[in-house]
Amino acid sequence: MIRFSNWTLRLDSKTPKPRRKSDKMIWVLCDFDGTAAALDVQNMLLDHFLGSSWRDVVNSVLAQGLKSSTYMPLLYKDWPASKEEMIRVIDEKAALDPHFPRFVEYCREKGYHLEIVSDGLDIYIERLLAKHNLDDIPYTSNRLVFEDGKVRIQSPFCSESCGLCGNCKKQRVLAARKANSRCVVYIGDGISDECPAGFSDIIFAKGSLLAYCRENDIEAVPFGDFSDVLGLFPEALASWLKSLTIQES
Ligand SMILES: [Mg+2]
Ligand SMILES: [Zn+2]
Repeated sequence: MIRFSNWTLRLDSKTPKPRRKSDKMIWVLCDFDGTAAALDVQNMLLDHFLGSSWRDVVNSVLAQGLKSSTYMPLLYKDWPASKEEMIRVIDEKAALDPHFPRFVEYCREKGYHLEIVSDGLDIYIERLLAKHNLDDIPYTSNRLVFEDGKVRIQSPFCSESCGLCGNCKKQRVLAARKANSRCVVYIGDGISDECPAGFSDIIFAKGSLLAYCRENDIEAVPFGDFSDVLGLFPEALASWLKSLTIQES
């Protein structure tokens, strides 16, 4: 009986039609700082609490060909603020791109898998997503641990094969491939988006990521904010899927 009633429920015209198989296999990986969030929240926090000196630390690490897995532990050593103070500044100064929630809705309607990939910090990603009731979006990032009046950074998603990024986002592209995704769309703006960019199928880029893509002959769709992504996404995806169908036939 129970089975029968479940089956009836599934045939009810009000239940959404099952998505095409291919829709579920579209993965959208989205950077947070300067992308899903209108400004770079981590840079804002560093400027607020450390002044501008942290930029010298970052630049000298980058000049050695190293990246965030090296400079982040240096920046969050002897951190001068409590978790509460940090949250107060996040609430006061940080916001999502105003069009991002609409993009999340779009992905949900279409049945695309969306996740945040960030080389920033869990504290503000969770805070800002929760403000918009979007805290069910999966994400990977570095973590700040406040303990005994001190702070330390953990990078549980750093990868041995990269060794440079705190969170090497290429790992999530590889996870998408492992899950037999039909298309991996990447959206980002900065240095930490370089590792995944070359391995994704469609790239929406701005800022230094767009410059990197141009320098390295990686095709990218330029965008300013998520109203652009919303406008450009359907055609970019349709033309990529069409090219895939031609390859497969
Ligand atoms: Mg960014
Ligand atoms: Zn990396």
